[in-house]
Formats: sequence, structure tokens, C-alpha cells
Amino acid sequence: MAFGAMQDWSMRISHVIDHAAREASGREIVTHWADGTETRTDWAGIHLDARKMAQALLALGLTKGDRVASLAMNHSRHLVSWFGVAGMGGVLHTCNPRLFEDQLEYIVNHAEDKVMIYDAAFQPIIDKMRDKWPTVEHYICFDSGEHTTSFEDWIGEQDGEFEWVEGDERDPCMICYTSGTTGNPKGVQYEHRSTLLHAMAGLQTSAFNFSGSSVMLPVVPMFHAASWGLPYSGAMAGIKFVFSAVNDPAVLCDLMDREGVTDSAGVPTVWLATFQYCDAEGKDLPKLKSATIGGSAAPRFMIERLMKNGTRVQHAWGMTETSPIGTVGGPTANWDELTFEEKVEKTMKQGRPIFGVELRTVDLDDRSTVLPRDGEASGALQIRGPWIIKRYFKAEEDATDADGWFDTGDVAILHPDGTMQITDRTKDVIKSGGEWISSVELENAAVGHPAVAEAAAIGMPHPKWDERPVLFVVRKSGAECNAEDVTAFLTDKVAKWWLPDAVEFVDDIPHTATGKISKKDLRERFSDYTLG
Ligand code: ADP
Repeated sequence: MAFGAMQDWSMRISHVIDHAAREASGREIVTHWADGTETRTDWAGIHLDARKMAQALLALGLTKGDRVASLAMNHSRHLVSWFGVAGMGGVLHTCNPRLFEDQLEYIVNHAEDKVMIYDAAFQPIIDKMRDKWPTVEHYICFDSGEHTTSFEDWIGEQDGEFEWVEGDERDPCMICYTSGTTGNPKGVQYEHRSTLLHAMAGLQTSAFNFSGSSVMLPVVPMFHAASWGLPYSGAMAGIKFVFSAVNDPAVLCDLMDREGVTDSAGVPTVWLATFQYCDAEGKDLPKLKSATIGGSAAPRFMIERLMKNGTRVQHAWGMTETSPIGTVGGPTANWDELTFEEKVEKTMKQGRPIFGVELRTVDLDDRSTVLPRDGEASGALQIRGPWIIKRYFKAEEDATDADGWFDTGDVAILHPDGTMQITDRTKDVIKSGGEWISSVELENAAVGHPAVAEAAAIGMPHPKWDERPVLFVVRKSGAECNAEDVTAFLTDKVAKWWLPDAVEFVDDIPHTATGKISKKDLRERFSDYTLG
């Protein structure tokens, strides 16, 4: 084969931490622990501990390709494990502690995890699950030695004199499971190469836009979709990280102030909790330069509020299967000519693909006719690229078509300027009289009502129209509104035939382990519902 004349440099995760330790050795990594204490280390410290951890894993008898599970919040030791496990050739399985017991049982057994490293706060889960996880041979606790070996003692037995385990750049390094809104969770196994490319793409100015002076407090958990690749992108840019092992808005806001946090990232509910805290305490929002919102659609008021705060809002879209970044919002070519309102409007859409991924939409019925990027046609969103899934872990068949397109399960519109707009999930879209109604747009419009805390629209069977939308609403505490108020509020925001046939008030709306509305559970709860 005729190669060119450049060097062979395998795209392994070890290069990322070596680089951070070499070029940003003293850049701090701060952790606020569950017990309220705070510790500080730096990239050189993470590098040393990751090598010690790799040695300690080999000392336990683990070999290349073995899976190591974590059940933990965000902190520096969890960060160490991202590099330590990959550095010994292992595969880190970040488990979501909010999963239901049967899901936790399933994913650990399916991944055949050999080691489980967990936060003391999750000891009750460990006690309950231990007998159900026959493959787990070793338990280590990140932050306490009360019940089992503590992480610090465990790695403390090693000297860190260690050469990373080499291998192919297409070796696996991490596995994440989808939260399984339908059926069993499915494992997505990331490779060294895909992870590296994804993290480099995350550094584009049109994505996270880090510089050496960035200080990032990621609120997105390290167990959720690889924390959007932030630990790796952050290491590449040598940024300062501020982690909190607790998700309390008071702690987060205080840390942001004290540590000079410039960047943060989280799902919409996190921002909502921050706003509520600031309002209740009469505090200003943290002075962030950049806030990334993803995981579910960012509502208008959230974007407005952050933008008025002088914060650049990056509305991102992705999924576990896409590593996860697919698109990120940011200034478009005509940005400076847009009014504030227009900027908000644009930011409500899900941004544009970062270099490396391709998007297309296809007809929802035949799933093959490619739709125009005209800002109107709405279809099944498909994606391909080097950090997009090819096949689920242990699956026999590819998850893509022959040309590599992966069907995301989302419904979207592609605009001529490249902006992608999610309008629904294929299984949630409401089909009325042969036309599609976006449940997401109905919900987003409804939460704009001052008395509405949360809203979920689902299609209910209808004798004439096939399905008609019903809107389930949780009122804000102490607020008053009735079905007519909500419908009247929606009248000038959605097409007339989209207006829900009924508005039902409920005390709560079920959520998935990643904090998203669970339409599946809502449908089950109202399986006897009939439109009167
Ligand atoms: P899970 O299915 O486990 O909750 P994911 O985080 O992989 O996990 O969810 C991916 C899905 O979340 C996407 O397919 C999409 O439906 C939704 N999603 C992610 N980001 C956005 C966004 N910015 N706007 C709307 N929906 C989003």
C-alpha cells in the first residue's frame, strides 16, 4: 500500500492525558464532594493517578478489553478512571445510578463488568444489587473506605511508573447504555479513535469553543452519554474543571462564583433548577460566558434568560449512539444582522452538524425518500460519521443501513443554512387525519404559560382522526389555570388543528433516568383514557 510520508500516531486516549499533563500540568481540577469537603488536584495529578489506577487494575488480574463499571457522580477520581481504564486497555462502563434496579441488573450483567467502582452515596444500591451481579469480582469505593477498599488506598499501593497499554486505535475504551425507553437498554461501545475524533470535534469554535482560560463546571453527569465528551475535550484544551458530586443549585451557583466558572453544560432541567434557586434567593444568574444545553429541547424562556445574562447559549443535539454530539447551535453567517428575538428563535432550533457528521431526513412513511433541506419538510432524522454507532454491543446485526445511515428515532426539519430542528421523536409524533402533529412543539408552547410548570402531549386514539393530541399539564405550585386558559394561550402559537382535544391536569409527569419526560410511562398510566 502506498502511504504518504507522515508519522504513524495511533489515536489512543492515552495521548489525551499525556498532552494535558505535559501542556497544562498545573491547571486545576477542583471537586466539591458529597460530604461538603473540597479537594484540588491538577492535570499532572490526574495523569499520575490514572497510571496508578491502570497498574492497580492489572494487579487485580484484568486484561485488555475487560469492562470496569463506575456508579458515580462528577468528581476528580471519576475523571481519573476515564483515563486509567482506557490506559490499561480496559473499557469503562459508566452506569447511571438513576436507572431502575432491573435495568442496572441487566446492564452490568450484559457488559460482564469485572470491577465496580462507586460513590459511598450509592452504597444502598450496591448492597441491593451485589448478589445479582455475578461477574463483578471487585468492589472499590471512590470516596470512603467504610464498607470496602477505598480508591485512594487501592491506587496508593502503586508507584505510577507505568507505560500505557498499547493497542489498535479501534479498540473499545468506553461503553454507555441507552436508558431504554423501549425494551432493554442497549450498549454503545466507543472506540479510542471515535472518542478522540469526537473530542477534537467538540473543540471547534462552533462547538464548546474552549481556550486555555476556560473554566468548566459540567453539570451533565459523567454517566450520561459520556458527559458529552467534555472530560476529553477539556483535557485536550487543558482547561480548569470544577466538579460537583452533588447537584444542588446552591452549591453549583456558589462554586461558579468562587471558582470563576466561564462555561457550563447540562440538560434543561438543570438550568430550570438554577433559575428557580436564583429567583428564590434574589440572586443574579452566574456570570457564565457559555452554556451548553442539550439532552432535550431548550425552551424559549431559558434561552432568553441566559442570553440576557450575556451568556452564549449552545443548544446541542445528540444521543448515546452518537457519542453524543451531532449538532450544536452557535452564531450563523448572518448572526450580527439578527434581532434579539431572531437570535432566540434560531437558538431554539438544535444547531448545525459539527464537522465529521452528516445528517439527512427521509420520508416518515417509506423511510427511504430523502427530503429537501427546505426548512419545511419534516422527516426521520438519520446520521452517519466516525463517532456514530455501527452496531450495538453484542448485537448480531448492524444498527445502520448499508450506506452507514443510522436512524435516530427523531423527527426533524433541515433548514437551508444547515440548522437542524427537532420536531419530535418518531414514536411520539401524533398522527391526526394523515398529518403529523409535533408533540414537542405543543409542549414547548404550553410551558410558556406562566402557570404551567411542565407539559406533555400524547396522541390518544380517535375514531375519526386516528389520533388526537391530549396535553397533560403540571401547574406551578400555587398557580391557577384551567383547560380553557391553556388552550386559549396556545391558539396563536400553533396551527388550529394542532390544539389539544383535552387538557388534563396532573400532579406529576413521569421521567426517565436521564430526567426526560417518559411518554411510555405516561401512555401506560392513561391506557384507559378515552376522548369524550
Ligand atoms: P436516552 O434515550 O437514554 O435518554 P440520550 O441522551 O441518548 O438518551 O437521548 C437522545 C435523545 O434525546 C435524542 O434522540 C433526542 O430525542 C433527544 N434530544 C437530545 N438533545 C436534544 C435537543 N437539544 N432537543 C431536543 N431533543 C433532544
